[in-house]
Amino acid sequence: MKKNTLLLTLVAIFLFAACGNQAVKEDENGDKDSVEVVLTPTHTDLQNAIQRADLNAERFNAFAQKAKEEKLPEMLPFFQAMAAAEKVYISELSEAFKVMGGQMSWGKPEVEVKSTRENFALMMKEKEQERNELYPAFIENAGKNGADEASVALEMVLEAEKMIIPLYEAADKALQSGNFSKLPLSYSVCPKCGLTYDSKLLPESCDLCGTSKEKFTAYK
Ligand SMILES: [Zn+2]
Repeated sequence: MKKNTLLLTLVAIFLFAACGNQAVKEDENGDKDSVEVVLTPTHTDLQNAIQRADLNAERFNAFAQKAKEEKLPEMLPFFQAMAAAEKVYISELSEAFKVMGGQMSWGKPEVEVKSTRENFALMMKEKEQERNELYPAFIENAGKNGADEASVALEMVLEAEKMIIPLYEAADKALQSGNFSKLPLSYSVCPKCGLTYDSKLLPESCDLCGTSKEKFTAYK
């Protein structure tokens, strides 16, 4: 069983790497041409980060549906806003990946749905790993590779994720105690960097990227 899983993982990695090997670059005349791009560790890191954000977005959307089924409507805007933030991360990271000559495509990820409390606990764990291990390692690699666009995009995502820790903590407390009265009724997501606020505490402009509050999308 374990052997099979390992084999499948290796096949998946191979197929994925093969997908990422194609690249479109503009020559000095501005013509687009298909060329081979040497993949750096940062290409791989960005692919991982993008795929992970895509999986997270699918999970958050599925978990929102589950919260609705479980009659936990207070958790719905949280999951929806988090799904939207992940989509913004995908576009930031994909932009950096494109600048580096990368191109990728992948299928819709499979999502396992459990109870809302279990779903939330999974995301707390995943996010902790992203903040403490994955993104710091990706950023270090990007620095070593001199991949400035990747560094900026990865740092932006990491910073947004650090800044929303209080939202996770509040949701965690509410789920543990069963008292949802202190949870935000609405969350607002920055369309440029994905930073998410309790809509009541939304500043005039995004603390991370300066986007004005009128451009934010609210989930309630
Ligand atoms: Zn922003």
